[in-house]
Amino acid sequence: MADYIYTMELRLTPNQLKGVNLVQDIARNAGMNVYLTGGAVRDIMSGFPIRDLDFTVQGNPLKLQKEFERSGAVIGGADDAFHVLYVTLTGGVRIEVSGAHIERYEKTGKPPIITPATIIEDLRRRDFTVNAMALSLNPGSRGLLLDPFNGVADIEAKLLRILHNYAFVEDPSRLIRASRFSARFHWPLEERTQARYQSAKESNYIEYISHAAIGYEIEQLAYEDDPLNVARVLEREDWLKVLSPHWTTAKMDVNGLAQLVKTRQQMNELGYYPDAAPAVLHFLTTRLTEKESTDIRKMIPRRDLAEAWRDLEDHAKELAKRLTGKEAATPSRTWKLLSGARPEMILFLAVTARQQAVEQKIKNFFTKWREVQQKIPLPEMTELLITPQLPEYPKIADEVFMLLLDGKLRSRTERLNFLKPFAPPPPPPPPAPKRGRGAKAAQAVPQGGQPTTAGKKKGKGEAAPAVAAKVSAPPEGKATAKSHPMPTSKSAPAAKKAPAAKKAPAKSSSSPSKTAKKH
Ligand code: ATP
Repeated sequence: MADYIYTMELRLTPNQLKGVNLVQDIARNAGMNVYLTGGAVRDIMSGFPIRDLDFTVQGNPLKLQKEFERSGAVIGGADDAFHVLYVTLTGGVRIEVSGAHIERYEKTGKPPIITPATIIEDLRRRDFTVNAMALSLNPGSRGLLLDPFNGVADIEAKLLRILHNYAFVEDPSRLIRASRFSARFHWPLEERTQARYQSAKESNYIEYISHAAIGYEIEQLAYEDDPLNVARVLEREDWLKVLSPHWTTAKMDVNGLAQLVKTRQQMNELGYYPDAAPAVLHFLTTRLTEKESTDIRKMIPRRDLAEAWRDLEDHAKELAKRLTGKEAATPSRTWKLLSGARPEMILFLAVTARQQAVEQKIKNFFTKWREVQQKIPLPEMTELLITPQLPEYPKIADEVFMLLLDGKLRSRTERLNFLKPFAPPPPPPPPAPKRGRGAKAAQAVPQGGQPTTAGKKKGKGEAAPAVAAKVSAPPEGKATAKSHPMPTSKSAPAAKKAPAAKKAPAKSSSSPSKTAKKH
């Protein structure tokens, strides 16, 4: 039995992994079998970024709503007919939990009849082979891949293949999905699928698409990493006007979208993962009328997304106002303000801000001010025994960082004066040597030479990594985590500097001037 749990753990972000464990526990406590399904399994296997997580439970997921809320998750919406729960977990991970079911299509354009089913039956009602796989999260079979249509082979062949000849007739929204996936992955449709696609298109089956499916596809477009590329393909295939009759790429803010994608990428590199979907919807609909935008908004199944999009401009204005007011009068205050702001608001403002002061502050927040972290006076702190082992270390490091941001603590004297009150008392002197037989035994070891030297070396070596590792930790530490969530990539240089710092106590008071010169 191939075990894909390792692959899954390797590919998911820590927050997504937490999400998998949470859903697994909630489903298990409710006595339901649970599987990771759909796009998440496809992306785990193919190596593409995993955008959201789809789970299938054997039972009614709407019964799990309370448990999700108790975990701090937000219920974005629920589909009573299809038994789907849309949830945003803490950490911003989007998940969908569906009940395993089959859909019986009696007539094109009419909603299917839904009946509970086994997981294998559920996989059979899916759109493409690459989306028809499930990974068991159940005790006894955890990690087992269910792949009844050999989706793995199609991932390897980079092909989109429908499961049966009537796929597009049964549910014409699959035509749009085919174009969307094809645009995203640059995978063509398999030959027979292409023929069925063409024939369904020519027969204009798309006119039978359900209202709900339109809303769902608009939402999915908002979550695309490169929405403009997908929108262009949808337009070329005539699907964009199916989503909204007057929608064209000419009605979109193309520059805004390009800038958004670029800024989000930069934020990701710094360790921020803003949800760009509300801003994407903003730019996708810039030149549609108010009514057209409102109609689109009403169709989106995730209410939290629809509301975030609706309120985006107002919230951005509010943040811009605060950034130009007293609250952001100094770099340290601005830092605190931006650290507490929602990343999606910063992202949107970074792209749309017209006031130079706002633009500059956001720019500094992501570049110049971040580098100040590397100026934390580690040698002086180590000299005064202010090390990460102290419980108040994160708070002290944070205060130092704020002062440095405001251009203070420039000289060594200033730094020492500030730090001294925080210095812990020096350690007690070593105990006096023992007398009698015990003392002889103790002395016997140093005479050998080796143990003492090794012991000393080890002592030094042990202390060093502790400092080196934790010096970079303040951003993740309790007190600082909120005020300056530094990306790990930027913490690294601080850790690199640590060896210089760790030498300070070894050389003791004979070398402070050397240390001071270095920094
Ligand atoms: P992504 O979220 O990356 O766009 P996805 O495959 O997860 O891709 P979703 O729209 O989230 O797409 O759907 C989840 C899964 O539900 C799909 O992988 C597919 O198995 C199934 N599915 C969604 N829509 C349909 C449909 N119209 N017909 C059949 N199966 C569908």
